[in-house]
Amino acid sequence: MDRPLSHPYDLHCHSTASDGSLSPCELVRRAASNGVRYLALTDHDTMAGIEAASRAAVHAGIRLIPGVEISVSWNKKCFHIIGLDVDPHNHTLLTGLADLQRLRMERAECIANSLEKHNIHGALEAVREMAGDGMITRTHFARFLVARDYATSVAGVFDRYLVRGKPGYVATQWAELEDALDWIQAAGGMAILAHPLRYQLTASWLRRFLTAFQSAGGTGIEIVSGNSTPQQIATCADYARRYGLLGSVGSDFHDPAFTWVDLGRLSPLPAGVTPVWSRLEMH
Ligand code: AMP
Ligand code: MN
Ligand code: MN
Ligand code: MN
Repeated sequence: MDRPLSHPYDLHCHSTASDGSLSPCELVRRAASNGVRYLALTDHDTMAGIEAASRAAVHAGIRLIPGVEISVSWNKKCFHIIGLDVDPHNHTLLTGLADLQRLRMERAECIANSLEKHNIHGALEAVREMAGDGMITRTHFARFLVARDYATSVAGVFDRYLVRGKPGYVATQWAELEDALDWIQAAGGMAILAHPLRYQLTASWLRRFLTAFQSAGGTGIEIVSGNSTPQQIATCADYARRYGLLGSVGSDFHDPAFTWVDLGRLSPLPAGVTPVWSRLEMH
Protein backbone atom coordinates (compact mmCIF):
# COMPACT_ATOMS: atom_id res chain seq x y z
CA MET A 1 0.00 0.00 0.00
CA ASP A 2 1.25 3.50 -0.79
CA ARG A 3 2.01 5.54 2.25
CA PRO A 4 3.94 8.79 2.44
CA LEU A 5 7.50 8.17 3.53
CA SER A 6 7.05 10.15 6.68
CA HIS A 7 4.44 11.89 8.75
CA PRO A 8 5.77 14.69 10.99
CA TYR A 9 3.84 13.20 13.93
CA ASP A 10 4.09 9.70 15.34
CA LEU A 11 2.21 9.55 18.62
CA HIS A 12 2.40 5.85 19.55
CA CYS A 13 5.48 3.61 19.82
CA HIS A 14 7.36 1.29 22.17
CA SER A 15 10.90 1.02 23.54
CA THR A 16 12.74 -1.56 25.66
CA ALA A 17 10.99 0.00 28.68
CA SER A 18 8.11 -2.28 27.58
CA ASP A 19 7.89 -4.55 24.52
CA GLY A 20 9.82 -2.57 21.94
CA SER A 21 13.18 -3.88 20.77
CA LEU A 22 14.96 -0.50 20.49
CA SER A 23 16.20 1.49 23.47
CA PRO A 24 14.51 4.90 23.92
CA CYS A 25 17.62 6.50 22.45
CA GLU A 26 17.74 4.22 19.38
CA LEU A 27 14.03 4.75 18.86
CA VAL A 28 14.36 8.54 18.83
CA ARG A 29 17.27 8.37 16.39
CA ARG A 30 15.33 6.12 14.04
CA ALA A 31 12.29 8.43 14.22
CA ALA A 32 14.43 11.48 13.45
CA SER A 33 16.10 9.80 10.50
CA ASN A 34 12.66 8.76 9.19
CA GLY A 35 11.61 12.43 9.21
CA VAL A 36 9.43 12.41 12.35
CA ARG A 37 9.50 15.79 14.10
CA TYR A 38 7.11 15.08 16.99
CA LEU A 39 7.39 11.66 18.62
CA ALA A 40 5.34 10.37 21.57
CA LEU A 41 6.91 7.45 23.45
CA THR A 42 4.00 5.37 24.78
CA ASP A 43 5.27 2.25 26.53
CA HIS A 44 2.85 -0.20 28.16
CA ASP A 45 2.05 0.99 31.71
CA THR A 46 5.40 2.71 32.26
CA MET A 47 7.10 6.03 31.64
CA ALA A 48 10.58 4.71 32.52
CA GLY A 49 11.91 5.42 29.01
CA ILE A 50 10.79 9.04 28.82
CA GLU A 51 13.82 10.67 30.38
CA ALA A 52 16.35 8.96 28.11
CA ALA A 53 14.13 9.58 25.08
CA SER A 54 13.81 13.28 25.94
CA ARG A 55 17.58 13.66 26.17
CA ALA A 56 18.04 11.86 22.86
CA ALA A 57 15.38 14.05 21.24
CA VAL A 58 17.30 17.22 22.15
CA HIS A 59 20.36 15.79 20.38
CA ALA A 60 18.35 14.63 17.39
CA GLY A 61 16.55 17.98 17.08
CA ILE A 62 13.03 16.55 17.39
CA ARG A 63 10.31 17.05 19.98
CA LEU A 64 9.59 14.17 22.41
CA ILE A 65 6.06 14.14 23.78
CA PRO A 66 5.81 12.14 27.03
CA GLY A 67 3.20 9.41 26.83
CA VAL A 68 2.08 6.05 28.17
CA GLU A 69 -0.23 3.27 26.89
CA ILE A 70 -2.43 2.26 29.83
CA SER A 71 -4.06 -1.20 30.02
CA VAL A 72 -7.73 -0.84 30.97
CA SER A 73 -10.50 -3.36 31.66
CA TRP A 74 -14.03 -2.34 30.83
CA ASN A 75 -16.87 -4.85 30.87
CA LYS A 76 -14.27 -7.64 31.04
CA LYS A 77 -12.70 -6.41 27.81
CA CYS A 78 -9.20 -4.99 27.53
CA PHE A 79 -8.64 -1.55 26.00
CA HIS A 80 -5.48 0.50 25.54
CA ILE A 81 -5.69 4.17 26.44
CA ILE A 82 -2.84 6.47 25.48
CA GLY A 83 -2.02 9.22 27.94
CA LEU A 84 -0.56 11.86 25.64
CA ASP A 85 1.53 14.84 26.72
CA VAL A 86 1.47 13.76 30.36
CA ASP A 87 3.77 15.05 33.10
CA PRO A 88 6.09 12.06 33.63
CA HIS A 89 6.65 13.10 37.25
CA ASN A 90 2.99 13.34 38.23
CA HIS A 91 2.42 11.42 41.46
CA THR A 92 -1.15 10.34 40.72
CA LEU A 93 -0.21 8.87 37.36
CA LEU A 94 2.97 7.22 38.68
CA THR A 95 1.03 5.65 41.57
CA GLY A 96 -1.65 4.31 39.23
CA LEU A 97 0.98 2.83 36.91
CA ALA A 98 2.84 1.24 39.86
CA ASP A 99 -0.26 -0.90 40.51
CA LEU A 100 -0.34 -2.05 36.90
CA GLN A 101 3.38 -2.82 37.05
CA ARG A 102 2.81 -5.11 40.04
CA LEU A 103 -0.08 -6.71 38.22
CA ARG A 104 2.16 -7.38 35.20
CA MET A 105 4.73 -9.18 37.39
CA GLU A 106 2.04 -11.35 38.96
CA ARG A 107 0.46 -12.06 35.59
CA ALA A 108 3.83 -13.09 34.13
CA GLU A 109 4.11 -15.78 36.84
CA CYS A 110 0.59 -17.01 36.06
CA ILE A 111 1.31 -17.13 32.31
CA ALA A 112 4.51 -19.09 32.96
CA ASN A 113 2.60 -21.52 35.24
CA SER A 114 0.01 -22.07 32.56
CA LEU A 115 2.74 -22.80 30.00
CA GLU A 116 4.40 -25.20 32.47
CA LYS A 117 1.14 -27.14 32.61
CA HIS A 118 1.45 -27.55 28.86
CA ASN A 119 5.02 -28.79 29.24
CA ILE A 120 6.65 -25.54 28.16
CA HIS A 121 9.35 -24.86 30.72
CA GLY A 122 11.59 -21.95 31.63
CA ALA A 123 9.38 -19.15 30.36
CA LEU A 124 9.52 -16.96 33.46
CA GLU A 125 13.32 -16.89 33.63
CA ALA A 126 13.53 -16.21 29.89
CA VAL A 127 11.07 -13.30 29.82
CA ARG A 128 12.60 -11.76 32.96
CA GLU A 129 15.98 -11.84 31.28
CA MET A 130 14.58 -10.36 28.06
CA ALA A 131 12.60 -7.59 29.74
CA GLY A 132 15.37 -6.56 32.13
CA ASP A 133 14.07 -3.53 34.05
CA GLY A 134 11.19 -3.10 31.58
CA MET A 135 7.60 -4.30 31.70
CA ILE A 136 6.98 -7.97 30.96
CA THR A 137 4.36 -8.27 28.24
CA ARG A 138 2.86 -11.05 26.18
CA THR A 139 5.24 -9.96 23.40
CA HIS A 140 8.12 -11.24 25.54
CA PHE A 141 6.39 -14.59 25.98
CA ALA A 142 5.74 -14.63 22.23
CA ARG A 143 9.44 -14.04 21.49
CA PHE A 144 10.32 -16.84 23.91
CA LEU A 145 7.88 -19.22 22.17
CA VAL A 146 9.32 -18.33 18.76
CA ALA A 147 12.86 -18.94 20.05
CA ARG A 148 11.70 -22.37 21.26
CA ASP A 149 10.13 -23.10 17.84
CA TYR A 150 6.54 -23.20 19.05
CA ALA A 151 5.71 -20.72 16.27
CA THR A 152 7.54 -19.11 13.37
CA SER A 153 6.62 -15.51 14.17
CA VAL A 154 5.48 -13.35 17.07
CA ALA A 155 2.13 -12.76 15.33
CA GLY A 156 1.81 -16.52 14.76
CA VAL A 157 2.13 -17.19 18.50
CA PHE A 158 -1.12 -15.31 19.14
CA ASP A 159 -3.06 -17.83 17.03
CA ARG A 160 -2.25 -20.72 19.37
CA TYR A 161 -0.97 -19.33 22.67
CA LEU A 162 -1.51 -16.48 25.15
CA VAL A 163 -5.09 -15.74 24.04
CA ARG A 164 -8.43 -16.80 25.52
CA GLY A 165 -8.86 -20.58 25.58
CA LYS A 166 -5.20 -21.31 24.71
CA PRO A 167 -2.11 -22.22 26.74
CA GLY A 168 -0.62 -19.22 28.53
CA TYR A 169 -3.85 -17.23 28.67
CA VAL A 170 -4.49 -15.42 31.93
CA ALA A 171 -7.52 -13.19 32.44
CA THR A 172 -6.40 -9.91 34.00
CA GLN A 173 -8.32 -7.10 35.66
CA TRP A 174 -6.44 -3.99 34.50
CA ALA A 175 -7.19 -0.37 35.51
CA GLU A 176 -10.76 0.93 35.57
CA LEU A 177 -11.51 3.24 32.63
CA GLU A 178 -12.49 6.15 34.89
CA ASP A 179 -9.33 5.74 36.99
CA ALA A 180 -7.03 5.71 33.95
CA LEU A 181 -8.70 8.86 32.61
CA ASP A 182 -8.40 10.54 36.01
CA TRP A 183 -4.67 9.76 36.22
CA ILE A 184 -4.10 11.14 32.71
CA GLN A 185 -6.06 14.25 33.51
CA ALA A 186 -4.18 14.71 36.81
CA ALA A 187 -0.94 14.56 34.81
CA GLY A 188 -2.21 17.27 32.44
CA GLY A 189 -2.49 14.94 29.45
CA MET A 190 -5.09 13.88 26.90
CA ALA A 191 -6.69 10.42 26.80
CA ILE A 192 -6.62 8.80 23.35
CA LEU A 193 -8.16 5.42 22.50
CA ALA A 194 -5.43 3.36 20.84
CA HIS A 195 -6.11 1.27 17.68
CA PRO A 196 -9.96 1.29 17.95
CA LEU A 197 -10.42 -1.55 15.45
CA ARG A 198 -8.02 -4.01 17.07
CA TYR A 199 -10.19 -5.15 19.98
CA GLN A 200 -12.22 -7.72 18.04
CA LEU A 201 -15.44 -6.08 19.18
CA THR A 202 -18.77 -5.89 17.42
CA ALA A 203 -19.63 -2.39 16.15
CA SER A 204 -22.25 -2.10 18.86
CA TRP A 205 -19.75 -2.86 21.67
CA LEU A 206 -17.30 -0.38 20.18
CA ARG A 207 -20.03 2.29 20.08
CA ARG A 208 -20.91 1.52 23.69
CA PHE A 209 -17.28 1.87 24.67
CA LEU A 210 -16.89 5.15 22.75
CA THR A 211 -19.95 6.56 24.52
CA ALA A 212 -18.45 5.64 27.92
CA PHE A 213 -15.00 6.92 26.90
CA GLN A 214 -16.34 10.22 25.64
CA SER A 215 -18.51 10.85 28.67
CA ALA A 216 -15.67 9.93 31.08
CA GLY A 217 -13.55 12.68 29.50
CA GLY A 218 -11.71 10.94 26.64
CA THR A 219 -10.23 13.41 24.16
CA GLY A 220 -9.34 11.52 21.02
CA ILE A 221 -8.97 8.29 19.08
CA GLU A 222 -6.25 6.93 16.85
CA ILE A 223 -7.41 7.18 13.28
CA VAL A 224 -4.22 6.20 11.50
CA SER A 225 -2.15 3.30 12.83
CA GLY A 226 0.97 1.66 11.42
CA ASN A 227 -0.89 -0.75 9.18
CA SER A 228 -4.31 0.86 8.71
CA THR A 229 -6.13 0.35 5.42
CA PRO A 230 -7.93 3.32 3.77
CA GLN A 231 -11.23 1.72 4.79
CA GLN A 232 -10.16 1.45 8.43
CA ILE A 233 -9.00 5.08 8.40
CA ALA A 234 -12.38 6.18 7.02
CA THR A 235 -14.23 4.15 9.68
CA CYS A 236 -12.20 5.64 12.53
CA ALA A 237 -12.53 9.17 11.14
CA ASP A 238 -16.27 8.63 11.15
CA TYR A 239 -16.19 7.60 14.82
CA ALA A 240 -14.13 10.70 15.66
CA ARG A 241 -16.67 13.00 14.02
CA ARG A 242 -19.66 11.17 15.49
CA TYR A 243 -18.34 11.20 19.06
CA GLY A 244 -16.72 14.64 18.93
CA LEU A 245 -13.23 13.19 19.42
CA LEU A 246 -9.93 14.52 18.09
CA GLY A 247 -7.88 12.40 15.69
CA SER A 248 -4.44 10.94 16.40
CA VAL A 249 -1.85 9.12 14.30
CA GLY A 250 0.63 6.60 15.68
CA SER A 251 2.55 3.71 14.16
CA ASP A 252 2.54 1.46 17.28
CA PHE A 253 6.10 0.62 16.24
CA HIS A 254 7.72 -2.20 18.26
CA ASP A 255 10.57 -3.70 16.28
CA PRO A 256 12.48 -3.00 13.03
CA ALA A 257 12.08 -6.72 12.24
CA PHE A 258 8.31 -6.11 11.83
CA THR A 259 8.96 -4.47 8.46
CA TRP A 260 5.32 -3.69 7.70
CA VAL A 261 5.32 -0.91 10.33
CA ASP A 262 7.86 1.87 10.76
CA LEU A 263 8.16 5.10 12.71
CA GLY A 264 6.47 7.97 10.90
CA ARG A 265 5.33 5.80 8.01
CA LEU A 266 1.70 6.83 8.30
CA SER A 267 -1.08 8.08 6.06
CA PRO A 268 -2.30 11.63 6.64
CA LEU A 269 -5.28 12.35 8.86
CA PRO A 270 -8.43 12.64 6.71
CA ALA A 271 -10.01 16.06 6.20
CA GLY A 272 -12.77 17.08 8.58
CA VAL A 273 -11.08 15.65 11.68
CA THR A 274 -9.43 17.94 14.23
CA PRO A 275 -5.92 16.66 14.97
CA VAL A 276 -4.87 16.08 18.58
CA TRP A 277 -1.79 18.18 17.93
CA SER A 278 -4.00 21.26 17.66
CA ARG A 279 -4.08 20.90 21.47
CA LEU A 280 -0.35 20.32 21.96
CA GLU A 281 1.69 23.27 23.08
CA MET A 282 4.61 23.49 20.72
CA HIS A 283 7.61 25.17 22.27
P1 AMP B 1 0.04 -7.44 27.04
O1 AMP B 1 -0.25 -5.96 27.23
O2 AMP B 1 1.15 -7.91 27.93
O3 AMP B 1 -1.19 -8.29 27.10
O4 AMP B 1 0.64 -7.59 25.59
C1 AMP B 1 -0.02 -6.99 24.53
C2 AMP B 1 0.99 -6.82 23.40
O5 AMP B 1 1.13 -8.05 22.71
C3 AMP B 1 0.47 -5.84 22.36
O6 AMP B 1 0.81 -4.53 22.71
C4 AMP B 1 1.21 -6.28 21.14
O7 AMP B 1 2.50 -5.73 21.14
C5 AMP B 1 1.33 -7.79 21.34
N1 AMP B 1 0.27 -8.51 20.59
C6 AMP B 1 -0.97 -8.80 21.00
N2 AMP B 1 -1.65 -9.46 20.04
C7 AMP B 1 -0.79 -9.59 19.00
C8 AMP B 1 -0.86 -10.19 17.71
N3 AMP B 1 -1.97 -10.82 17.28
N4 AMP B 1 0.23 -10.11 16.91
C9 AMP B 1 1.35 -9.51 17.33
N5 AMP B 1 1.49 -8.93 18.52
C10 AMP B 1 0.44 -8.97 19.36
MN1 MN C 1 2.90 -3.96 22.59
MN1 MN D 1 -1.97 -1.42 22.22
MN1 MN E 1 1.09 0.06 21.52
